[in-house]
Amino acid sequence: MSNMQQDINNTQVAAANKETKVQPEDRKVMVEVENLSTYFKVGRRQFLKAVDNVSFKIFKGETFGLVGESGCGKTTAGRTILRLYEPTGGKIYYDGKDMSQVSSKAEMKAFRKSAQMIFQDPYASLDPRMTVDDIIFEGLDVHFPHLSDKEKHDRISQLLMKVGLNSEHGARFPHELSGGQRQRIGIARALAVEPDFIVCDEPISALDVSIQAQIVNLLTKLQEEMDITYLFISHDLSMVKHISDRIGVMYLGSLAEVTTNQRLYSKPMHPYTQALISAIPIPDPDLKGSLGRVVLEGEVPSPINTPPGCKFAGRCSYCFDRCRKETPELQQVDEDHYVACHLYDDPEHLPAELVASWRE
Ligand code: SF4
Repeated sequence: MSNMQQDINNTQVAAANKETKVQPEDRKVMVEVENLSTYFKVGRRQFLKAVDNVSFKIFKGETFGLVGESGCGKTTAGRTILRLYEPTGGKIYYDGKDMSQVSSKAEMKAFRKSAQMIFQDPYASLDPRMTVDDIIFEGLDVHFPHLSDKEKHDRISQLLMKVGLNSEHGARFPHELSGGQRQRIGIARALAVEPDFIVCDEPISALDVSIQAQIVNLLTKLQEEMDITYLFISHDLSMVKHISDRIGVMYLGSLAEVTTNQRLYSKPMHPYTQALISAIPIPDPDLKGSLGRVVLEGEVPSPINTPPGCKFAGRCSYCFDRCRKETPELQQVDEDHYVACHLYDDPEHLPAELVASWRE
């Protein structure tokens, strides 16, 4: 068996373990966003609604996947949760504390230590003029000033080994490393300050497929060893499946559906989620479900002038009158399953072929 195949198989094993990792009765909320909005001013009176009235919870020790097409607002949501962007409205609760109101330097410093980020492009996020040692040293210097330089360097060596490198990599510059090694440095830098929560912003999309599986396995292993909670942002539903416990699907700044990993792939309820899942290549046609490939027609509307009603109406083949007038709210339709779609309060509009595609 090739190394690549082994990596992919290992990833699948990790995914299978996901089902049982956080038991529903033991769940403690780590991050909660309530009606979160992030708007950017464009022109004199217009706003780009990158994140628009979004609410969800992330439980301690789990991986919450946030997926959607490019430009749907998932990265902005992640950055707003970390207060890298200021929220326009709504609340961000972190470990029970309202972080949207915090402004004191001491509290923000403690938050920055506890909540870290791994960036999409490992090359752009590392200073090319600094060695790996210096890059990781910075965080230790800010958050662990009581440690001696020797203790900090010992920690750096341990961190490099933890992420699958060795202490010799500490003397290298980012351009002397491969893409996968650079992403491991990005992970080591985030881990250096001993975080409880990490926003992983498309951490594998710039890497080769075989390296992607290695990085996903590394993140899973570190989560188990260090009890870290992840928000895993990706446009790739097939990769999110391998690492997430629960998944939120975003469309044009809003959440279309939130549910468990298992339910999202066996019983996708929102027409947009169904279209995304139908696009994942599956080698066995019997497992494709009765809907087959759902091809989305039409253009994504502008996030500046969003039309009234459901944002997906222009591309939805099940759209009916109410959809163009009324914005659907995210509502609970089953245990751990939330959907923003009028089909589920108007069952007479629920098409039989959509229900037939569900696999329990
Ligand atoms: Fe389609 Fe209407 Fe549901 Fe929107 S609310 S996804 S337009 S059926």
